[in-house]
Amino acid sequence: MQSLYNLTDTELRDWLTSQGEKPFHAGQIFQWLYEKKVGSWEEMTNLSKSLREKLSSSFKLHTLKLRRILDSEDCQTTKFLWELSDGNLVESVLIRAPERRTVCVSSQVGCPARCAFCASGKNGFMRNLDTAEILEQVIQTDRYLKDKGEKVCHIVFMGMGEPFENYDNVLKTIRMINDPKGLNISQRKMTVSTVGIVDKIIRFADEGLSVNLVLSLHAPNQNLRKKIIPYARKYDLPDLLEAMLYFARTSRRDITYEYTLMEGINDAEEHALELVQLVKRHPCTVNLIPYNPIEGIRLKRPGKEAIEQFREILIDGGIPTTWRYTKGKDIAAACGQLALQKDVSVNATV
Ligand code: SF4
Repeated sequence: MQSLYNLTDTELRDWLTSQGEKPFHAGQIFQWLYEKKVGSWEEMTNLSKSLREKLSSSFKLHTLKLRRILDSEDCQTTKFLWELSDGNLVESVLIRAPERRTVCVSSQVGCPARCAFCASGKNGFMRNLDTAEILEQVIQTDRYLKDKGEKVCHIVFMGMGEPFENYDNVLKTIRMINDPKGLNISQRKMTVSTVGIVDKIIRFADEGLSVNLVLSLHAPNQNLRKKIIPYARKYDLPDLLEAMLYFARTSRRDITYEYTLMEGINDAEEHALELVQLVKRHPCTVNLIPYNPIEGIRLKRPGKEAIEQFREILIDGGIPTTWRYTKGKDIAAACGQLALQKDVSVNATV
């Protein structure tokens, strides 16, 4: 049985009509789902009992069961572990900044890309999440924040999985988050991060959206990139960068290149100089992310001096550069640390 959160307004109207019900109920149901974010069918008090029964026998209301919440020491980051209806587990992360509550959502169980520095791909790929399973990570986090008088306002598709390998469901989720009858969050407040799939970047550019796009670059040349990101063997770097430029031109959005700095791998002066040459004609920001340690992966974070030097070379080369302050390291919620979980015994509810 699928979740009601998989249905768009049009799909819900069609379903209501097929059940001999008036399509205007879709508006009422969407209010219960997206504004009030109810936890049960009984709470939908302006629907008739028979309609509630039809809904409950055709759809699940929620598909995610909260298994664990972890807060970072500085309380800036909260990691949620969700159990899906088939028993698989995924994580999402709430990141607090002044005036901003961002949810980092997962789009797959595991990840087929298997980047060298990332925990998510370590145990391989299980399956794609459906739209409701992605969307509900936002809905449930919003319910969690409601008691504190806070609200999710930004969404990043940077959790477990490669979003463009689950293209249709991710796109539908974006549209439903953006829908004024849905969560009504601006496209400009959403960001998709990809490891770099050329045809999907071009397709995404042609969707006519204003969503931000981040490319996990991590190396200034194809040879090194192939070692860090096995997926890079499928796509030449010049083609990939050309696709990113096409996205920037078509969507009129700036693009971001993420570069995880790993000691002795991609953090030398020569790498920084090569990176400047590679991206200097792009309307981009380079976001430096010092590697976050992961158990079982023998990579190291460069020292502060090396990171500073790398950044200075980029800035001197005219490249807008940020150095991401790592949040949630102590609860393994930082970039690249979300992993397939197997052994969880603590129950919790939102
Ligand atoms: S960095 Fe992203 S694309 Fe690479 S393995 Fe991790 S989740 Fe997958």
